[in-house]
Amino acid sequence: MHKILVANRGEIALRIMRSAREMGIKTVAVYSDADRNALHVRYADEAVHIGPSPSNKSYLLGNKIIDACRQTGAEAIHPGYGFLSENAAFARQVKAAGLILIGPSPEAMEIMGNKLSAKVAAMQYNIPMVPGTEEAITDIAEAKLRAIEVGFPILIKAAAGGGGKGMRVVDSANHFEEQMQLAVSEATSAFGDGSVFIERYISSPKHIEIQVLGDNHGNIVHLFERDCSVQRRHQKVVEEAPSATLTPAIRAQMGKCAIDVARSVNYTGAGTVEFIMDDKLNFYFLEMNTRLQVEHPVTELITGIDLVKEQIKIARGEALSFKQEELTIKGHAIELRIYAEDPANNFLPDIGTLQTYITPKGPGIRVDDGFEQGMEVPIYYDPMIAKLIAYGKNRDEAIDRMAHAIDEFHITGITTTLGFGKFVMQHIAFRSGKFDTHFVNKYFNADALQEDNEDEALIAALIMQQLLSGGKKEAPLVADVSNWVKNRKEL
Ligand code: ADP
Ligand code: ADP
Ligand code: MG
Repeated sequence: MHKILVANRGEIALRIMRSAREMGIKTVAVYSDADRNALHVRYADEAVHIGPSPSNKSYLLGNKIIDACRQTGAEAIHPGYGFLSENAAFARQVKAAGLILIGPSPEAMEIMGNKLSAKVAAMQYNIPMVPGTEEAITDIAEAKLRAIEVGFPILIKAAAGGGGKGMRVVDSANHFEEQMQLAVSEATSAFGDGSVFIERYISSPKHIEIQVLGDNHGNIVHLFERDCSVQRRHQKVVEEAPSATLTPAIRAQMGKCAIDVARSVNYTGAGTVEFIMDDKLNFYFLEMNTRLQVEHPVTELITGIDLVKEQIKIARGEALSFKQEELTIKGHAIELRIYAEDPANNFLPDIGTLQTYITPKGPGIRVDDGFEQGMEVPIYYDPMIAKLIAYGKNRDEAIDRMAHAIDEFHITGITTTLGFGKFVMQHIAFRSGKFDTHFVNKYFNADALQEDNEDEALIAALIMQQLLSGGKKEAPLVADVSNWVKNRKEL
């Protein structure tokens, strides 16, 4: 494999290209109008324009991506996450074109792409399942009976759902019919598939997922867990590895289950098996994501394994170079997703220009991003700006490093989840490890985001530094700092 096309944008495109470059593989970027000057385009060895800004006119067009491979001689495609990464039809198209998709087989993608067929596959191995219906359910009266059997509260879920979308919690039989109708129509419009099913709503759950790697020689290993319980809208904002809750025995049990789930579809490449865990540490299979996950860096930091390199090696047909027994957890890692969102206003997406963008540095700090100061965050795509990842020898050190790094991360012009991240790091429930997926609803509100004294001290220090340097070059900083203050006040 000499040249890989990365069918994605932003931080993940850059992340993938970095590993390819380290392996001596050339990279090709694709880009839409909005991304003409994006960093992934500048970083790649070659770049191909594939269309207008909306993703359905660019990044989601499989034909254009395959054409770009032909044009540049790229032999393989890395799809990243989102976009075409879990699209089995695209995976087939890539294969038919004589190219390699860096990911699992189209068959594995297809089965795991639907939460119901995924459960059917997993059941071959006696994997614990959330009580609920095992098939799509269309008849509302029957669905209600089943819901009563399962016991309220229940979740109505879209079989084809993803990204936290297509889920409805129903507390009692009273509003069931109405919720069921809404769920079906939402699933139809969002995923083009109205199939829904019912699951018991686990009341104080943790989201625990297991990273797996499978090669084309029948080897499958797990790389331990990630705890992704700090969520808003059923979507992750803070992730960590290992989990503060798991015992070695449960970790081993979950790891084995995850490998079995992967084996049920002869899984190859990197994948994630997601579980929900109740307050008694019982765990149940939720779904499998057949791609690189947003939060993969925390696993890389605790295992020392570059997951993108492993994906590429597997796609080249190599056998895994390590065995399960050789894998160990070293230290602790936490990731904060920095979204262009306003935490004080229900995490509503924000757009604009990054007037100031200064990233933290130092031991144990990793920033995966795709932006520079002065760039605009386009409205067309996912509002994630960066991922801030902190590593420490233990959980406390990782949390402290994360808190300091958040203080050193300066973004103005756009409201972000940075302040929210600080709130999480300082919160007793998070620090003690005793938190569940309701963390945000339980503890967080707009008042929690008050400007703190440290910010003021830092602004004073920045202004002082600028006065002392006296250079003209730094002059815009004053405006940036005052903007920052203004922004913080608006929070
Ligand atoms: P992860 O499990 O990797 O944290 P997320 O649920 O946050 O994944 O989604 C990762 C990316 O994929 C996001 O850009 C999200 O918007 C997108 N995504 C995930 N599932 C879907 C889906 N079914 N349809 C459209 N986009 C999706
Ligand atoms: P998606 O495809 O959108 O990622 P998941 O099935 O992985 O869907 O669920 C996303 C999140 O929704 C979980 O991380 C969890 O917070 C919540 N959730 C899903 N199923 C349940 C359940 N049965 N009980 C409680 N919470 C759930
Ligand atoms: Mg999920």
